[in-house]
Amino acid sequence: MDLTVISTFRCNSKCQMCYIWKNPTEPKEEVSLETLSKLPNGFDNLNVSGGEPTLRKDLSEIIDIVYPKARITEISSNGLHPERLVPIIKKYPNVKVRFSLEGDRETSDAIRGEKNGYETKVAGLRKLKEAGGTDLGFAMVIQDENVKQLVDVYEFARKEGYELATSTLHNAWQFYKNDNYFYERKSVARQVEGLIEAMLKSSKPKNWFRAYLNLGLIEKILGHDRLIPCSAGKDFAFIDPWSDVWACNVRSDLPMGNLARQSWDEILNGEVAQRTRKKVADCSQNCWMVTTARTAMRSNIVPQMPKAEPMMWVLKNKIKVSVGKKICFDSYINYSDVRPSPFVKRETYLDKNVKAKLVKGRVTPDEHYPLKTFMNN
Ligand code: SF4
Repeated sequence: MDLTVISTFRCNSKCQMCYIWKNPTEPKEEVSLETLSKLPNGFDNLNVSGGEPTLRKDLSEIIDIVYPKARITEISSNGLHPERLVPIIKKYPNVKVRFSLEGDRETSDAIRGEKNGYETKVAGLRKLKEAGGTDLGFAMVIQDENVKQLVDVYEFARKEGYELATSTLHNAWQFYKNDNYFYERKSVARQVEGLIEAMLKSSKPKNWFRAYLNLGLIEKILGHDRLIPCSAGKDFAFIDPWSDVWACNVRSDLPMGNLARQSWDEILNGEVAQRTRKKVADCSQNCWMVTTARTAMRSNIVPQMPKAEPMMWVLKNKIKVSVGKKICFDSYINYSDVRPSPFVKRETYLDKNVKAKLVKGRVTPDEHYPLKTFMNN
């Protein structure tokens, strides 16, 4: 099972596609070391994210607790405080670190509302490499504003010896956003094709399967059904800063329990989780994020291996690209079916003086996530 620990909703970026920064949590309410110690061993990918996890003063202790419990420990960071990660990487060089990067200097800083963000994170990842980091990379959220730079970011990451993880606009309780829509779905989707071809040309099998993951992103961008059904609550779960456990980070009606008050076994086997898994089986959203896609692509029999569909697609198209042929994307994707969506303008917060507002006295999950509806179709 994969697990994401959303350690805080405090954040020092001001992204246009994620409003966590407008909804910070109080440090004293955030999931404690004692609560995280209750997690069992045996997770596959355990991601410590946020908000911005480096704003937790006890991030090193969090990693000390979760590191032995997972095959892969990951930190998703905006990269604005790389110095806080250096001691962690010196201690655990194989901790996976992904810094958010949304394109070139101007584009990334505008989308993320970060002054000098680009320089800080590019220099910061180099620092982590010097510290001995072995699994470093960038993470990019594909949107109209940066899709033209997608292949360039991939090539830049590759030349520096880094990975590139991609996702795209989603509406989700984790992001406090339910109005993330593409302006030109088809044009954005078409430009992802270039990244898929570039990834298939790579010599790394990891990139070939990322190519398939990006094929799923094209379906998501166009508003089509997911390539593979979702297994939220069974193959992955999320813990929010209030220690509430959720099947996924999208729908706020898929609770499983609370790790501060219950044991992990009670949560997984409880009635609430069982009811939630039934709802997941009927979920008609087409979200396709790294966690939801990666787990869906895994074989049910040998989890280290991919399912037959991605495996066959990768083999066929890797051979095609290797002999210099083009992939016929139209044979996989119905580009004539583009779901209509409202036009909601995104705006940069780079030069805007918007302060985050700490709302005290939020007690129930309904108060934590007031937006209620999050559609991804
Ligand atoms: S498909 Fe449904 S259950 Fe799965 S992650 Fe998306 S909203 Fe959650």
